[in-house]
Parts: sequence; structure tokens; C-alpha cells
Amino acid sequence: MSEVGILGGGLTGLTLCSLLENGEILERESECGGLCRSISEDGFTFDCGGSHIIFSRDRNALNFMLSKLKDNVVKCRRNTKIIYKGRLVKYPFENGLADLPLRENFECVASFLAARVKSRLLNALRFHCDGGAKSLHAWLLANFGRGIASKYLIPYNEKIWKISAKEMSASWVDGRVPKPPLRDVLRASLGFNTEGYTHQLNFYYPKRGGIAALIRSLERECKGRIVCDFEVKAIWRENGKWFVSNGEECRKYDKIVATIPVFSIVHSLQRGGESVPASVLRAVNALVFNSLATVMLGLEGVAEEKMSNISWLYIPDADCLPHRVAFPSNYSREVAPEGKTAVLAEITCRDTTKMSDEEIIERTVNDLHRKKILRKEDVCFAKVMRTSPAYIVYDMNYEHNVSVVREYLQRKGIILAGRFAKFEYMNMDACVRNAMEVARMLKERC
Ligand SMILES: Cc1cc2nc3c(=O)[nH]c(=O)nc-3n(C[C@H](O)[C@H](O)[C@H](O)COP(=O)(O)OP(=O)(O)OC[C@H]3O[C@@H](n4cnc5c(N)ncnc54)[C@H](O)[C@@H]3O)c2cc1C
Repeated sequence: MSEVGILGGGLTGLTLCSLLENGEILERESECGGLCRSISEDGFTFDCGGSHIIFSRDRNALNFMLSKLKDNVVKCRRNTKIIYKGRLVKYPFENGLADLPLRENFECVASFLAARVKSRLLNALRFHCDGGAKSLHAWLLANFGRGIASKYLIPYNEKIWKISAKEMSASWVDGRVPKPPLRDVLRASLGFNTEGYTHQLNFYYPKRGGIAALIRSLERECKGRIVCDFEVKAIWRENGKWFVSNGEECRKYDKIVATIPVFSIVHSLQRGGESVPASVLRAVNALVFNSLATVMLGLEGVAEEKMSNISWLYIPDADCLPHRVAFPSNYSREVAPEGKTAVLAEITCRDTTKMSDEEIIERTVNDLHRKKILRKEDVCFAKVMRTSPAYIVYDMNYEHNVSVVREYLQRKGIILAGRFAKFEYMNMDACVRNAMEVARMLKERC
């Protein structure tokens, strides 16, 4: 009997298992990886849970991931753009103001200055300007000014989150969306080169195998302790032990760490005979998330010339299905056959999209052709994959609902780790850090 049952074999579950000697993973799918899965077909490799890169401010988490890849890694410098009215604007938008028409550049910089002055004045009067900004809409206006917010940040955020920025909480943005220094914005507006979001300016990517190369390496360290095709359906506690069942087979543990979505944990407890309070069921059922469709395209030759060294593109325009398009073969030449290009387009949807795979491909290819991102006659490979859940949506009730559910699961003695169990906007580095913390805590308790 393994002492620690780890529910879910994504990056969090695998990292945790690799750090424990007595852990066992139960994974629903026939392979591990979760959002960090990749497929290789016709010489192309795509990250099917969306484009992934490795970066972090946390040296420890970054070194952990890089050490798993050994020499199978490339270091890249970000060259990312936003498509705005047909122009390529440097990313982040506030660092690319000189790429806008002069009048729009002025509107952005003038309203940015006005927002900063207002915020300083309110702070001096002891009102917290963005502290008072409860909605994402208000936070973006307070921190970036009307120009930058209305031209790019609000439309892009509404496109990816599928919710009005007025109905979204600002609680997730602090620290995640950096507030740019005034000096940088002024310099960017005049055409000086400035960089924002600098902890992601240089990033890493596996040379071969896509982001799943990291998963494969962790899997090797957990050999013999991974049970695939095991969907956790019921969880219960009896005589001081935890029991986990997939409906056919039952496994027994001293402790469990859940990395599967929080609603699956609550519903599994219910199926295990637990009478979950109505307030917890209401809260868990009210949590909002988005699903993702990834459109994986292979191109003969290079994409449009101006795309030949782009890392990824943000597309706020409502008339284009994908919100983001990445060019993984611009990070590593080994993820596409010689002379071909790999393109990965991402589309969010609330739950699963009603469009068929064929419709999604057709719309995506036509939209990207019209936006001059690729030529549709060059497409030699096309495939769609869907992932759910993919993004946590911080609506106005998020804080309340998530704290009700977490408190309940903590009382039950279930340890939560990772993006969907904690139901938090966590990137890979945060998942690794979280798994390290849980491993330390479990070892200390022994
Ligand atoms: C589009 C997109 C792009 C991203 N890009 C980046 C990036 O560039 N850099 C970065 O650092 N992060 C990125 N992230 C975030 C990153 O993918 C996540 O932080 C990380 O993969 C989460 O890992 P996890 O193990 O917590 O969750 P998951 O990957 O969701 O793993 C959970 C696992 O549990 C399994 N499971 C679910 N239900 C059950 C069940 N009932 N029984 C058994 N098993 C179950 C799933 O199959 C899955 O394998 C991105 C995320 C998205 C959506």
C-alpha cells in the first residue's frame, strides 16, 4: 500500500510524486500530463493543451523544471506582438505605443498620465485607487488609463475570459499584470526600446517533444507508481484510511493529495457517501471556468514573411476566432519538419464549443488568412483538440465560493494542490512550487 494517494497526473501530481518515495498517482487518462500534453504527428509536435513556455521569477521552480530537461532545452528571447487594426504592435501594448498611429499613441500616453496623476492624488488623500477597483474593468482603467485599456486590454480580456470585464473581479491581476513604470511608457511612446513583463522576456522550451518532454522526464522518476486509466469517482474515509474508487477498483491510502478539479473532488466525496452541505454544493457548482480548443496547423514553408520570427501573437479583434496564435517552430526547429512551420491557435469557450472540429479549423484558417498571419493554401496539417477545464474565471463571486469549498475540504483532511484543485490561476512554476511545499509538509508530518 502506498501511503500517499495523488489524484491526477498532471505537472503538479508528477512533481509531487517525484519528490516522495511513498506516493502513487491515479490518472484518468491513458497518459499523464494534463494541460502539459503534446502530440507528435506528421513530423509536427504541438502542445495540445495550449502553447506552453517555461519561465519564472522563482529560481528554485525554474531550475527544477530545467534540470528535468537536461540538455533537451532551448533558450529563446520573446518576440511577441499584438495585432491592432492590422498593425503589429510590440507586446506588452504599453511598450509598443510607438507602433500605433500618432493620434492613438497620444491618446494612450495622455490617458495613462491622467490615470497615474489621479491614482497619486487619491493615494495622497489616503484612498487606495486600485484598491477600490473591484472589477477588472475599473482596475485596468485605473492602472493603464482609458486609451490602453479600451484599445487592447479590455477587448482582449473579454475575448479570452468570455465575460464582461465589469463582471470580472480584479483579485487575480495584482502581480500577474504588472503595472508599468511611467518612465517606460513615456519612452515607449517616443519610440525608445523598452521591455515589459521582463521575467518572461527570456524563456525556455524543450528542443524535442514539446512541453510533454518535461512530463516524460518526471514520469521516469515515478516509474511503477503511476496508475493510468483510473478515473477517481468516489472517495471516502474509513477506520483512519482513505479509499479511492473508479467504480471497479478501490485503492487505500493514509493520506490523499488531490490535483484533480475541485468539483470532481466534492462530487467524488458525495459518491463516497459523504453528505456535503448544501452551501458547499452551491459554491462549487457556481465556480466558473473556460474550456479551450487548440487548432494545430502545419504549414508548407514559412508563415507570412513578417511572422518568421514571432513567438506568439495576441488578437483582440472580435472578428477572428482565436485570441492567441503561437509559432512553436520559431522556438525550436525540431518541432516541425525541415522547411515547414508549426502554428498553434487557441480559442476559449464557456464549457465546450458547439462548433465541430471541421468548422473550427475552417473558421480559424480563414480568419488567420484574412489577418495575413498565414496563407490558407500552405496548410498541410490541421487538427483540433479540446481541453476542459482550461482557465479559471475570476467572476465577482469567486473569492466567496472558493473559500467556502476550500474550508470544507480542509476540514475533511484533503490536501489540495495545483491549478484546478486549488482553483487558482497557477502557471507551471506555481504548480511546481506548490508540489514542493506539499512534499515538505508531508515529510515533516511523518
Ligand atoms: C492555454 C494555456 C497555456 C498555458 N501556458 C503556460 C505557459 O506558457 N507557462 C506556464 O508556466 N504555464 C502555462 N499554463 C498553465 C499550466 O498549464 C498549468 O499551470 C499546469 O499544467 C497545471 O498542472 P496541474 O497538474 O495542476 O493540472 P492539470 O494539468 O489539469 O492536471 C490534472 C490531471 O488530473 C487528471 N484528472 C482530472 N480529473 C480526474 C479524475 N476524476 N480522476 C483521475 N484523474 C483526473 C487530468 O487528466 C490531469 O492529468 C497554461 C495553461 C493554459 C490553459
